[in-house]
Amino acid sequence: MKKLFISADIEGTCGILHWDETLKDKKDHAYFARQMTLEVAAACEGAHASGVQEILVRDAHDSARNLMPDLLPPYTRVLRGWAPDPYCMMTGLDASYDGVVFTGYHSAALWDGNPLAHSMDTNWGGILINGEIASELMLNSYTAAYENVPVLAVTGDEMLCRWMKDFSPGTAVVPVSRGVGAASLSLHPQEAIRRIRETVQEAVTYKREDCLVQLPEYFEVSITFKKHGDAYRNSFYPGARLTAPHTIAFETDDYYEVLRLIHFM
Ligand SMILES: [Zn+2]
Repeated sequence: MKKLFISADIEGTCGILHWDETLKDKKDHAYFARQMTLEVAAACEGAHASGVQEILVRDAHDSARNLMPDLLPPYTRVLRGWAPDPYCMMTGLDASYDGVVFTGYHSAALWDGNPLAHSMDTNWGGILINGEIASELMLNSYTAAYENVPVLAVTGDEMLCRWMKDFSPGTAVVPVSRGVGAASLSLHPQEAIRRIRETVQEAVTYKREDCLVQLPEYFEVSITFKKHGDAYRNSFYPGARLTAPHTIAFETDDYYEVLRLIHFM
């Protein structure tokens, strides 16, 4: 295995629990941006120890300017900012990669596994795909599947990791925190880093067939917006229809059209 793609979010970073800790213009951000970076660096070091030569790290949170590139190993490249394009948190991934690792990922909107649980846009109440609550991890795992690239490992909150073991049993998970109502119980930050390094080192040796996510043949997408006006506006997207005052529905057999829909909502 030579080429690894890492998509890094922050809301599943060890210890994080408040929105002020996720936003670049808030003073609480610096500590968690550093921890987010150290967790990514641990994933890179683990992969490199198993022979991975090339790693693209996609900073995939909010401003996409969170990671501290000088804390990452020299064999990494970092993709910062938003193009923006429909691949979004997965921009830069293509079929030439041998595997994907997600770090700092978090529970979906409508779940209670993380005080910062949400899916894509915090103005959304939630998104369902084929009737199941969709996390960013689900959406981005389908993007990996669309490029025929296996999902090797995920780090983030415990509920998300538990969900992933159902969704893709062959993928390794590293739970670093657990939502307790609106609070969060987490590992020591250095212990999280140790577990991530160790797990990714092994995960990059997994058989690709065991970690390839199956892409559904058909997608029924339902997005609920916190404001009914947003649902009304977005119901004019080609193929979308209003199914309830706050909700639009959209169907397609091409996953790229799901990504395009999300891109424009
Ligand atoms: Zn995020």
